[in-house]
Amino acid sequence: GQWVSGSVEENMENVLTLYHNLIKRGVQVNRDFAEDNTLVADHDALNQVWTNLVHNALQAMDYQGSLTIRLKRDTDEIIVSVEDTGAGISPEVKDRVFEPLFTTKQVGEGTGLGLSISADIVRRHGGSITVESTPGNTKFSVHLPTEPTQP
Ligand code: ADP
Ligand code: MG
Repeated sequence: GQWVSGSVEENMENVLTLYHNLIKRGVQVNRDFAEDNTLVADHDALNQVWTNLVHNALQAMDYQGSLTIRLKRDTDEIIVSVEDTGAGISPEVKDRVFEPLFTTKQVGEGTGLGLSISADIVRRHGGSITVESTPGNTKFSVHLPTEPTQP
């Protein structure tokens, strides 16, 4: 896709709209969005990241719980976090979530590619992706430079 200046919020809202039917089963969505969340990026690629993080969070909660999305603006980066109140990730699993084809899901529910592709996309933007998890809480954070060096 093209590298253009675009709002992360707009793309995130599109993802939430796509998942509306699953969210309305019983998910409370909390938004904490910084005013300035504009970024030069390949937003088509980043949409795959937001889609996968939201999808994983909804699946982890079995569509019941709270989903908190934050967009923070720092001096030269935007930090996007997606947090859920699902079961959490055990330390053994946590070490492997970014590996290609690693999944704990049933056949048909996951391919295990989402987070490895997401990490590649974030890296191409000069950013990073991390996860923190305790029982009942999982938070993925993506750091993206506001003015990345384009490949
Ligand atoms: P998939 O969703 O197809 O399994 P991913 O790469 O997106 O593949 O995720 C890999 C694994 O990471 C998942 O199978 C799951 O075990 C774990 N995981 C990812 N996100 C979460 C989350 N929000 N809560 C708990 N576990 C998660
Ligand atoms: Mg996934």
